[in-house]
Amino acid sequence: MRIVVSGAAGFIGSHMCDRLLGDGHSVVALDNFLTGNRRNLDRLEGEPRFRFIERDITQPFSVEGLVDGVVHMASPASPKDYLEHPIETLDVGSMGTRRMLELAREKRARYLVTSTSECYGDPLVHPQVETYWGNVNPVGPRSCYDESKRFTEALTMAYHRKHGVRTNIARIFNTYGPRMKLDDGRVVPAFLDQALRGQPLTVFGDGSQTRSFCYVSDMVEGLCRLMLSQERYPVNLGNPSEMTILEFAERIRRMTGCQPEIVFQPLPEDDPKQRCPDIGKARSLLGWEPRVPLEEGLRLTVEYFRGLQ
Ligand code: UDP
Repeated sequence: MRIVVSGAAGFIGSHMCDRLLGDGHSVVALDNFLTGNRRNLDRLEGEPRFRFIERDITQPFSVEGLVDGVVHMASPASPKDYLEHPIETLDVGSMGTRRMLELAREKRARYLVTSTSECYGDPLVHPQVETYWGNVNPVGPRSCYDESKRFTEALTMAYHRKHGVRTNIARIFNTYGPRMKLDDGRVVPAFLDQALRGQPLTVFGDGSQTRSFCYVSDMVEGLCRLMLSQERYPVNLGNPSEMTILEFAERIRRMTGCQPEIVFQPLPEDDPKQRCPDIGKARSLLGWEPRVPLEEGLRLTVEYFRGLQ
């Protein structure tokens, strides 16, 4: 297939490009480097089935030739990034999504979009199942991301219903691995960076809020399976192994062996208290579940961050 990927220079986007090329597809990659990183695509330079086009997908653009698939992954994704770029985040989720959907419609291509567990907000149903409608503060600081992605999902369903576009929606839960930005503020790179530099780990709040962490290769496998499915409604993809942030800090301390101390800092506004995917739908529909254990995934991520120093 010839597949257009937006957000290709991002963390998950760049792994997706690797995977698609590895599976024998051709990739037309789009990114405007707002939060993506040119270096994530360096090794693909000269690859004949790979073409990069620097584009802001909120502005008009066209892609020449046949297109079989559209994978729309462009968006700031870490709280630090979307709080810094709230308007760009809303623009890419609305106008950017519209343009990617139009591309899929015009080319009669299948379409996959990466949505988010943030659609559930600070959830009152636990673990989160796809049929739960969420508890989002529509005017809070995180709303630029949450509502952008909820709009993305609504627009995607509208294109499917109105124009018959073969759409898929993945709700991605916390994902980690090589090519995350060390300074993107998310808890995995933050703790690893602090531990590697022998600095205290900054736990926000009392650390009782929960998350679960999915290694990037597992995530990409789930996305590829979803892209080939007929399911039009959202599907959760994430690791259901839930832990508190304090427990996660303890694991990092044990793993890195340097036993950094833990310091507590204020909890950001609207930080979800608990989050864990119900992946029953992905299991039965796609035969998918995460395989990489946390220790192994963290080891590979540390190796990558060490290589950057
Ligand atoms: N967090 C933390 N210390 C940090 C960064 C994040 O305790 O240095 C917490 C954050 O408050 C949240 C969790 O870790 O409860 C996950 O945060 P992240 O930014 O990775 O993503 P989120 O799941 O909030 O989108």
